[in-house]
Amino acid sequence: MRNIGSFDYIIVGGGSAGCVLANRLSESGAYRVLLLEAGGRDRNPWIHIPIGYAKLFKNKKLNWLYESEPEPELLGRRIIQPRGKVLGGSSSINGLVYIRGQKEDFDGWRQRGNIGWSYEDVLPYFMKAEDQARGADDFHGVGGPLAVSDQCETHELCDAFIAAANALGIPKNDDFNGAGQEGVGYFQTTSRRGRRCSAAVAYLRPARRRTNLHTVTHAPARRILFENGAAIGVEFSHHGEICRAMAAGEVILAAGAFASPQLLQLSGVGPAALLKTHGIAIARDIPGVGENLEDHLQARMIYRCTKPITLNDDVAHLTRKIGISLRYAVKRMGPLTISAGYAGGFFRTDPRLATPDVQVHFINFSTTKMGDKLHDFSGFTASLCQLRPESRGSVRIKSADPAAPPAIQLNYLAAESDHRTMVAGLKLLRRIMQQAPMRPYIAAEHEPGEQCTSDEDLLQHVRARGSTIYHPTCTCRMGEDAMSVVDARLRVRGLAKLRVVDGSVMPSVVSGNTNAAIIMIGEKGAEMILADAAARPALKAAS
Ligand SMILES: Cc1cc2nc3c(=O)[nH]c(=O)nc-3n(C[C@H](O)[C@H](O)[C@H](O)COP(=O)(O)OP(=O)(O)OC[C@H]3O[C@@H](n4cnc5c(N)ncnc54)[C@H](O)[C@@H]3O)c2cc1C
Repeated sequence: MRNIGSFDYIIVGGGSAGCVLANRLSESGAYRVLLLEAGGRDRNPWIHIPIGYAKLFKNKKLNWLYESEPEPELLGRRIIQPRGKVLGGSSSINGLVYIRGQKEDFDGWRQRGNIGWSYEDVLPYFMKAEDQARGADDFHGVGGPLAVSDQCETHELCDAFIAAANALGIPKNDDFNGAGQEGVGYFQTTSRRGRRCSAAVAYLRPARRRTNLHTVTHAPARRILFENGAAIGVEFSHHGEICRAMAAGEVILAAGAFASPQLLQLSGVGPAALLKTHGIAIARDIPGVGENLEDHLQARMIYRCTKPITLNDDVAHLTRKIGISLRYAVKRMGPLTISAGYAGGFFRTDPRLATPDVQVHFINFSTTKMGDKLHDFSGFTASLCQLRPESRGSVRIKSADPAAPPAIQLNYLAAESDHRTMVAGLKLLRRIMQQAPMRPYIAAEHEPGEQCTSDEDLLQHVRARGSTIYHPTCTCRMGEDAMSVVDARLRVRGLAKLRVVDGSVMPSVVSGNTNAAIIMIGEKGAEMILADAAARPALKAAS
């Protein structure tokens, strides 16, 4: 086994959180940092062109393409779970929508005993990360690594959707990340001048010349090495060779909501019974590792459009396609710059609720499945997801082989309250679509279709066609209770020198898209790690 040396910090996973950590921990020059990433560099040009996300859904080189176990409430279907396998991780293949979540999400985290994670506590880290194109205000920062921009242009269909929601009394909201989330409007995107701003572009590129940051790609971690209850290094493979790296300071897992718990379990940290089944020696029995999996289930409504103004029409005509490419090449504008939600909204399905419980992503194209080719008719899509589902799933290893994917069980719709919210959300969405501003654009409801009328029909549509909106989280939940895995400083309970800093530590999924909150977690996690190192003079002296 080749030993590649000793570092102060070893970060496993160069995704949204991992890139933030790599930058911030190497910033001062005082610490030697190793970043291990299972995938390769972000050279594929489609990563950097915003609409490229649609091309990357099925790219096995850049995408782990996990598959869930059969989902009992979704007619036993296995649901594809894309995750980035490349520098930047899922932020290199995601839909670019910039949403932070609701103030109440973070206050809820704090309310569960997680000191330092209330909205007031986390807002400065969102702002520190941000380079907001509209400029700074009470909620937004400028000069941070992560570029946040408006869509480069409006679209007739999005305008009609916004007006239709307004006609139903839903207010316009020009900033879903500002004073309040409720309402309808255009999404902002993580992009700069028509190019994707992934975590790798934002955080890793500026740091790549630092001599104290060592990045190894094609280096999947196999297990964490322990001695006397403390993490001391990581074993990984690299082009067929088994290697190890030692950590004088800490090992930090940032491999995401599926791979971080998987790696803990492979290393003997997890539910004792599961580890015993696979003959893995127990380093620490932590029952919550891999449990409490949360995700947002989406159900799409697809419409045939009366006018040839959709992206489906653009790509069907060679001259329009060439025009789009030229416009992007020359001006960095046009359909190639749009995010996975062009416009959208946050709605309450019940007026008695304090905050929105569903989100809609509205987009000017349609496909049968995500990542498929566009329909050959003029079409557009409104997708609905429930923001705070009660159903919980799990991630559990199926074997002691690090190369074998874990069993991922989402248990979508396991809770009956989730049925009600999805059905109520679809009914609300339909009412929006029936308002006067939208009517001239709708030739027919293609999916689920006008024959689908009762609540039971709508639920059946969700069961038959629902899929993930790519927000798996909470599998190494932060907290104080018996099922929590890390404490509020993101340290794995009962083990020294080991943290998890990624989407898996969320105590509950945020009410919105997850990338911004995970970058915030990376910023806050890095600050905690550096503060703890400063209080530990031995590490400073060793560096
Ligand atoms: C298709 C898609 C669309 C999305 N759209 C949006 C959106 O529009 N807006 C939004 O806010 N969010 C979106 N998300 C979600 C968001 O991008 C993710 O929640 C976020 O990027 C996850 O960050 P993370 O750091 O937890 O994990 P990731 O970014 O997934 O990073 C984990 C990294 O660890 C690496 N890794 C895994 N195992 C190992 C190992 N054993 N050794 C070494 N490295 C390993 C992976 O290759 C990866 O690079 C989307 C996600 C997907 C997949």
